[in-house]
Amino acid sequence: MAILKIVTYGNESLRQKSKEISKISKKIRILAENMIDTMYKNNGVGLAAPQVGENIRMFVIDVSLDNEPYNPIVFINPKIIKKEGATHEKEGCLSFPNAFVDVRRYSYVKVKALDINGKPFIMEAKDGSLLSRAIQHEYDHLEGILFIDHSRNIFEAIKVLEENNLPTVQKDKMLDEKDIEDLLSNEDNKADNNE
Ligand code: ZN
Repeated sequence: MAILKIVTYGNESLRQKSKEISKISKKIRILAENMIDTMYKNNGVGLAAPQVGENIRMFVIDVSLDNEPYNPIVFINPKIIKKEGATHEKEGCLSFPNAFVDVRRYSYVKVKALDINGKPFIMEAKDGSLLSRAIQHEYDHLEGILFIDHSRNIFEAIKVLEENNLPTVQKDKMLDEKDIEDLLSNEDNKADNNE
């Protein structure tokens, strides 16, 4: 058991695309255990390997509540096989201490991955749940994509990063996401009409 050092925004490992894991070796198992311990130690709901400087396709998530038993899930070589709907929420990241920004996400995802024993599993996460958003957030890390790239309001993102002494947004990395934004705008309009 060891607590690993989490790299912060600005470290180039966060912008690299991670490699598939070809064999779940003892080293990978130990890394997964250490990532879980590191996630708990930092009160996170997820942690991806690039955040501890390892550019391999693995992340861990635990969205259980404080009064529930620990329920860590390890995802190895994950693939998002279905995504639908739209949601938005303030999100943070252990690589961005204290910075929270409103980001766009799909509300539903279906993901396929291997567990720590190499056994394939499929998981669905619905209704913009914490699990759904965590899967999308951690999966992005394996692609070198960061939550701020999904910001609904770039000015908010710039301000929050500045306030927390983090490097500024990379405008060329910002995602367009017109499909999600259109769905969100429709919902906003509907809400206005009902008032
Ligand atoms: Zn993150």
